Amino acid sequence: MLNRSMNDPRGQLDMTEGLGDAISRGRDAGRPWIQVWFACAGVYQRVFRSVDGSRYVARCAKCGKTMNFRVGEGGTNRRLFEVRC
Ligand SMILES: [Zn+2]
Repeated sequence: MLNRSMNDPRGQLDMTEGLGDAISRGRDAGRPWIQVWFACAGVYQRVFRSVDGSRYVARCAKCGKTMNFRVGEGGTNRRLFEVRC
């Protein structure tokens, strides 16, 4: 169930989504976001897409581990992730 790449020491995961979404929906429609579970903090965190639309950067509030979710072709289309930290 857990994506193995979650444990990737590089802390990066590729993901796919409709490129151009932000443009068609407009800035006021709200930025897309994903839900990330940080194991050590025991909390879900809502992570908004970066301004340039290329990635999501999630940071654990407790241990400070940073996880990069890169938006691109060939990635996962999941919207809920778990980070073991
Ligand atoms: Zn942590």
